[in-house]
Amino acid sequence: MKTSNSYLQEMLYSELADVVGREDITGNKADKAAYSCDYYWIPEMWLDRGCPNPMADFIVHPETTEEVSRILKIAGNYKIPVVTWGGGAGSQGGALPVYGGIILDTKKMNRVLNIDRDTFSVTAETGIITQHLEWELEGEGLSTMHYPASISCSTLGGFLAHRGTGVLSTKYGKIEDMIMSMEVVLPDGKIINTLPVPRHAAGPDLNQLFIGSEGTLGVITKATLKLHPLPAERQFHAFIFKDMHAAMQAGKEIMLSRLRPSVIRLYDEAETKKLIKRVLGIDKQGAYLVFGFEGDREIVEIEKKRAIDICLKQDSEDLGSEMGRSWWKHRYDFFYPPHMFALPQAFGTLDTVATFSNIENVYWAMKRAVENNFPEAVYIGHFSHWYEWGCMLYARFIIDNPPQDPHEAAQLYNSVWDAGVRAAINAGGVLNEHHGIGLKLGRLMKEQYGEAFSIFEKIKEAIDPNNIMNPGKMGFKGA
Ligand SMILES: Cc1cc2nc3c(=O)[nH]c(=O)nc-3n(C[C@H](O)[C@H](O)[C@H](O)COP(=O)(O)OP(=O)(O)OC[C@H]3O[C@@H](n4cnc5c(N)ncnc54)[C@H](O)[C@@H]3O)c2cc1C
Repeated sequence: MKTSNSYLQEMLYSELADVVGREDITGNKADKAAYSCDYYWIPEMWLDRGCPNPMADFIVHPETTEEVSRILKIAGNYKIPVVTWGGGAGSQGGALPVYGGIILDTKKMNRVLNIDRDTFSVTAETGIITQHLEWELEGEGLSTMHYPASISCSTLGGFLAHRGTGVLSTKYGKIEDMIMSMEVVLPDGKIINTLPVPRHAAGPDLNQLFIGSEGTLGVITKATLKLHPLPAERQFHAFIFKDMHAAMQAGKEIMLSRLRPSVIRLYDEAETKKLIKRVLGIDKQGAYLVFGFEGDREIVEIEKKRAIDICLKQDSEDLGSEMGRSWWKHRYDFFYPPHMFALPQAFGTLDTVATFSNIENVYWAMKRAVENNFPEAVYIGHFSHWYEWGCMLYARFIIDNPPQDPHEAAQLYNSVWDAGVRAAINAGGVLNEHHGIGLKLGRLMKEQYGEAFSIFEKIKEAIDPNNIMNPGKMGFKGA
């Protein structure tokens, strides 16, 4: 519901300005345009074709939890949507103000509040850019070990809101494993805290209710995360395998042997040929795999040797430590110009996760669904985040010349997503692993969950009866 009535607009402006101050609210067109597009391909393409995206009425920049609370109370009174905006680097359209209303930008809430050296934990406001948090911790010899490729442009709140993950997740976990506790402002303005420790038997875990809720249940304003000492030793090693299957056998054995790599990253033959060659200059046939170990030097040496022995049992060529270190050095380059795909290309990351029994079937099912149904699309993938029981597939499709007509382009784009994601789900994968659902995948939530989706709908209705928090996202109804 957009506030088309101009008196209401003025009244809303006055009330919001009273909370944040006139310098921290804007309704001018340039600012609204800047907050109308995140990293989702459709709004980027829409703008590229000269079509404006839906815009918010106002953007506000609160500095405290109390200000957030007051903003939500005002929005509740007017029944106006509130979309929380962190870095705007999400790839699922989660932060887009598709029904107008208020953009609540969290970036002024960016303080590190406490570093607890006894517990090894940090409490910070969630508008902090994650790289800034890391810089502050590194000065103390500590780290959250949350190193996503978007570390420089995304906020802590953004990662919590959609279950993000970093490059060292195989050892340190995803953001949901790093959380200790959090403060949340509910849609009615109430400020709540989850329990001070992440393990208890005092009922269900409220942390995990809000993690992954993508701004639909409230605004996460503070979070306490676990910390780790910076490792004394950080080592990498790389191999080329005859093919992806051989490399998968090695990666799986490393995990099933219960070694504790910080990272395993396995690129299929197509991505090895395309991106490993372009970014690392390694021009080899086959599937590139890199792994890393870190911590105490003696333990690292033993674990690394065990992992090398496992890799050598397969049909593989040992590329050595230097080729592994080179990957670490360039780990973020894969995601930025000139290596990343960009308009006019259409591209999407169909990330999913499955058990070791299913993961290769998921890879092939998605590849067939994309390439057989859309001959104009290329499918590539790598396996990034590894668990004791399976791993994550970061599959991508790329279409070099999508239609110029924006409606045709959007329809083609959505059809590739439908085919790819349905193939993943049917083969034992899931809708998404760490980018979230947002606007992009909401229509598929009921297919993923079946009857169980009604539990989410009931929770949403109970916590947000006026449906003001990020309506129309995650498969929930629009405003
Ligand atoms: C180049 C690039 C590389 C990337 N690499 C990674 C990666 O390695 N790992 C990864 O996980 N993701 C990655 N992403 C995706 C993106 O960075 C993440 O989705 C990130 O968490 C978005 O954070 P943000 O602050 O930009 O959130 P936004 O895009 O601003 O918001 C995302 C969603 O979270 C909600 N939200 C934001 N803050 C809050 C809050 N405080 N309370 C409640 N809801 C909130 C928004 O309403 C929205 O629904 C990458 C993106 C880019 C552009």
